[in-house]
Amino acid sequence: MKSNKAVVKVMSPKREDQPLAPLIEDLLGRLGENPKRDGLLRTPHRVEGALRFLTSGYRADIRKVLNGALYEVKYDEMVVVRDIEFFSLCEHHMLPFFGKMHIAYLPQKKVIGLSKIPRLVDVFARRLQIQERLTQQVAQTIQETINPLGVGVICEAKHLCMMMRGVEKQHSGAMTSAMLGAFRDRKDTRDEFLALVTRL
Ligand SMILES: [Zn+2]
Repeated sequence: MKSNKAVVKVMSPKREDQPLAPLIEDLLGRLGENPKRDGLLRTPHRVEGALRFLTSGYRADIRKVLNGALYEVKYDEMVVVRDIEFFSLCEHHMLPFFGKMHIAYLPQKKVIGLSKIPRLVDVFARRLQIQERLTQQVAQTIQETINPLGVGVICEAKHLCMMMRGVEKQHSGAMTSAMLGAFRDRKDTRDEFLALVTRL
């Protein structure tokens, strides 16, 4: 007689869903620490939680983040959001880099709700990044989402991998920019943006 038992396949969890804590415990040991000492007992779980949060941008859906926050308007002046704080991890050392982003665009028909722009930055910052790509991705996403006449993004950041390892002077920062459309082609637009973000 044929068995009606369903075949139960044991699926191993996807690689990105596998726990990190055992790896961190192993890492602590390899660093010469004793992972069983009091202060470190919960550390692997805390590090796992922190790393999951700091890389949560991989699991975020841009469309959902911006959902319901795109508006049709008759406004064609420059929209500028400056001093957006962000925190990211460099993909070369997995150490933080952090700073501010200034974002502007020239709307054509649509604008993005102002509060959503920092959320957009978080989606890309909470991944392993290099500053150049982070800057570019933010600009590109705005361009693709609302098709403005142009987008300008300036990003200033400090990198702990440089500061802590003494590669750079403690107070030096890195600047990157991405200029699309009118911000690339028209000097007056670019100058207006720079004047707005450098004004104290
Ligand atoms: Zn680095």
